[in-house]
Amino acid sequence: MAERYLNCIGGDWAPAESGEFFENRNPADVNDLVGLFPKSSSVDVDRAVKAAEDAFDAWRLTPAPKRGEILYRLGRILQDRKEEIARLMTREMGKIIKETRGDVQEGIDTAFYAAGEGRRLFGDTCPVEFRNKFGMSVRCPVGVCGLITPWNFPMAIATWKMFPALICGNTVVLKPASDTPASAVKLVEAAIEAGVPAGVVNLVHGTGSGVGIPLVEHPGVRLISFTGSSAVGRDIGERCGKRLKRLSLELGGKNAQIVMADADLDLALEGVLWGAFGTTGQRCTATSRLILHKPIKEAFLAMLVERAKRIRVGNGLDESVEMGPLVNEGQRRTVMEYVAIGKSESRLVAGGKPLAEGPLRDGWFHEPTIFADVAPSARIAQEEIFGPVLAVIDAEDLDDAIRILNGTRYGLSSSIYTRDVNAAFKAIRDIEAGITYVNGPTIGAEVQLPFGGVKDTGNGHREASHTVLDTFSEWKSIYVDFSGTLQKAQIDQD
Ligand code: NAD
Repeated sequence: MAERYLNCIGGDWAPAESGEFFENRNPADVNDLVGLFPKSSSVDVDRAVKAAEDAFDAWRLTPAPKRGEILYRLGRILQDRKEEIARLMTREMGKIIKETRGDVQEGIDTAFYAAGEGRRLFGDTCPVEFRNKFGMSVRCPVGVCGLITPWNFPMAIATWKMFPALICGNTVVLKPASDTPASAVKLVEAAIEAGVPAGVVNLVHGTGSGVGIPLVEHPGVRLISFTGSSAVGRDIGERCGKRLKRLSLELGGKNAQIVMADADLDLALEGVLWGAFGTTGQRCTATSRLILHKPIKEAFLAMLVERAKRIRVGNGLDESVEMGPLVNEGQRRTVMEYVAIGKSESRLVAGGKPLAEGPLRDGWFHEPTIFADVAPSARIAQEEIFGPVLAVIDAEDLDDAIRILNGTRYGLSSSIYTRDVNAAFKAIRDIEAGITYVNGPTIGAEVQLPFGGVKDTGNGHREASHTVLDTFSEWKSIYVDFSGTLQKAQIDQD
């Protein structure tokens, strides 16, 4: 009998009002049923929002350093359970165990970073135009926040949203992706054990239409923080726009790594292998385009193809495996469709096939795949595939490489390998992206730097760093007049 997991509303673990459950299966072996999860609806969302509203006053009035102490405890609980959560996460979404350990570590880092903010949350004090008058600004909580997350970083992304929301004094309703609900249960269990009061963190499982849309449209939810595809982000943006609801969007990417002729080619090779095929290419920051300076193109491509063919694909719980399956059948179908498109547009030089033989027969595996001689405007160079498919494009010189890199509607992460400091700084200045790595791959963000992108990757917000506090708090400006007279600002004085 598979384990039944529950929603968490107002501190109580309970099934959905419908009494129905959905299955969560291991993408490396679909015979392995990870668990059954509540199939929730707008009724469960209403209850969760009510619980979050009821808990809000007591939580916002809890001193921020005290809220921080709870987050420190939560970080330590996640440290103690890192291995257990990582193994469960690999089972439910497929990425290799080294990466799921890293995903949990990101949650731990975020807990400690957000906890420290409990003693900062800085505002400004400013001079004002009159004597005996004082000006300052403080951060206030927003209210109930709806957090909607994707499946590719079940712990990192949920904590990037939840912990800053909590330290600012907000209460939250988390709706995790239905491919990774178990990791979310582990996070909420840890939060409650750490001392987060009942109703401050609520968890409602279910689909985008069954739970996501009701959460976005709920009048009691003041803010939506969403990470996922651009198509869904656009839909949520329209719904929030109509309701003048505060909204932070972290969406897709079509990230590129540039390799110039003067680069350390061995280093650049390690970078692109990790960036393109880590998490089976299912990272928002994955390297899906490789832009090669023409003089080194043939040599680099030969090295890359040789290494890509040797990547060990399999069940991510096996420590020797380097790449796991796609997250589900639909995601593998999408990859196969793009491979067919790629074959009609350019030259297949590695991979190109699903893997369904022997020990891989019951999972959603696919070969690491590389296309060469790809036109910058080709569909596989423009559209987010979210799988282990790399499009290699040639560039005449640095200007051409940057132009190609900038030539998509996305702008999340980017990378350049060069030993020329002038070229590096020109790239840093001219690349249109939220993140630029020099001599590092497009993946590998740390919590103390802002995370997010430009153009269709988002709507101008950033997660992580202190910049995330701007999403989860409202500014209040305060003027204190201790003159005992009416002092009129912005009026010509007699
Ligand atoms: P998705 O957009 O399909 O789903 C994301 C979440 O939204 C899920 O919880 C889903 O159930 C929910 N949802 C779906 N439709 C909804 C709707 N109409 N209203 C409200 N909620 C809805 O994305 P996914 O397949 O889970 O994740 C992959 C995508 O996420 C990729 O496009 C990737 O680039 C993006 N992503 C972006 C970042 C970033 O920080 N920029 C990070 C990770 C993933």
